[in-house]
Amino acid sequence: MADPATAASEGGGSAAAVDLRTAVSRQFDLAAARIPTLKTGLIDFLRYPKRAISLCFPVEMNDGSVRTFHGYRVVHNTAKGPGKGGIRYHPDVTMDEVIALATLMTWKCALIDVPFGGAKGGVICDTKSMEEGELRRITRRFIHELGDNIGPYTDVPAPDMYTNDQTMAWVYDTYAQEHPGRNNLPVVTGKPIEMGGSLGRSAATGLGTCFAAERLVMLGGVPGLPTLQDAAVAVQGFGNVAVAAAHSFQAAGARIVAVSDSQGAIYCRDGLDLDGVAAFKREHGTVVGLPNTQSLTNEDLLTAECDVLVPAAMGGQVHAGNADAIRARLVVEGANGPVTPEADAQLAARGIVVLPDILANAGGVCVSYYEWVQNNENEQWDLEDVNRKMKRKMERAVDAVLACQRRLSASQTMPGAADLRVAAIVVAVERIADLTLKRGIWP
Ligand code: NAD
Repeated sequence: MADPATAASEGGGSAAAVDLRTAVSRQFDLAAARIPTLKTGLIDFLRYPKRAISLCFPVEMNDGSVRTFHGYRVVHNTAKGPGKGGIRYHPDVTMDEVIALATLMTWKCALIDVPFGGAKGGVICDTKSMEEGELRRITRRFIHELGDNIGPYTDVPAPDMYTNDQTMAWVYDTYAQEHPGRNNLPVVTGKPIEMGGSLGRSAATGLGTCFAAERLVMLGGVPGLPTLQDAAVAVQGFGNVAVAAAHSFQAAGARIVAVSDSQGAIYCRDGLDLDGVAAFKREHGTVVGLPNTQSLTNEDLLTAECDVLVPAAMGGQVHAGNADAIRARLVVEGANGPVTPEADAQLAARGIVVLPDILANAGGVCVSYYEWVQNNENEQWDLEDVNRKMKRKMERAVDAVLACQRRLSASQTMPGAADLRVAAIVVAVERIADLTLKRGIWP
């Protein structure tokens, strides 16, 4: 079998992963072309990761066998502060994917204006086929191997796909065991509340998608959609981001007409009872089969009749092959990289607005930053304070991106409309480039 580490670094990862890196690189090129003042040297500096670590380590499994796991941690940029980004456990993780996701984190942190750079990590593993003890040993060994490459003021991990607050508790505990005698709480965010986690962190990403969409709609950014009131919303996924997004859009007056998981989707025109869906999934392991709903494939969910589509599961879901069949007026990227560059162009040509991932799902890293601040102060803020501050930051970011979009679209030197993704990356890159030059190229 090919060494996953080598294969990935040579660009030989899964097609989806290679696509994400290519997609992120292409998005950056489109944005950089809109910033004529950006120095060539800085373009290269922002294109490549600052540090990419590839690890392999043995773990004893419950049956007594020993398996070797491959893990990655990438810091893309630290101009604004320590690296920040999730750790993902998934069979398809590759170095290329982690680099792409770390790059998105750099843009996201700059856009939402928190003092972090971009980072990401991942371990190639299938959590569904493993016991809790095995996951704990994988996590502890991975964090031990990373050593001082993570730390409260160097690189601060968080949860991502198939990792959660329990995983982050093990991350914290492992790091604290190896760094006794000081406050280690800010080394990782997304921790359990009783271990220094922030109120509101688990729902922050999903809630933030709704705050961003509401602001955009209110400012007239979505032709034909003047309000979220009674809007039909289809959500792909039923994990952390998807569930919180669905509840938030429902609380904003929308009808959640579809949700899905890895086994398929369900649809109900009049709106789903989300607590009923959650109870059914707890009992049956899937949302599919809930009485009084129509079963769909995940592909059908994406093209279902709705006003707002929230892909909140995986990357690469809306692509050249299905973009022309999307019926929503607004696509809100809850997941990272769910719309490919080809699909971006097709959707734009049909007047469908895409609220890009680095803006739409930035609520998570925003509240992660609040958790880090609370940990440094050994304080706990009220939920209302956390959500109010995050809402304000999301709204400011939407306003900045809309203003940038107007500026780019009116530019004489660079004619042609700019979409929200290009505008969002331009805002982020301009902020980071400005900061880099103000700090001065070292030495
Ligand atoms: P999660 O593990 O809680 O949920 C993943 C979801 O994807 C589940 O509902 C699962 O059923 C679904 N899924 C898995 N395979 C699928 C398939 N083949 N088709 C359709 N659905 C499938 O993960 P999460 O934390 O909710 O993350 C989801 C996405 O959001 C990821 O792209 C992640 O990078 C991004 N994101 C997460 C956060 C966060 O705070 N958790 C922040 C920003 C971005």
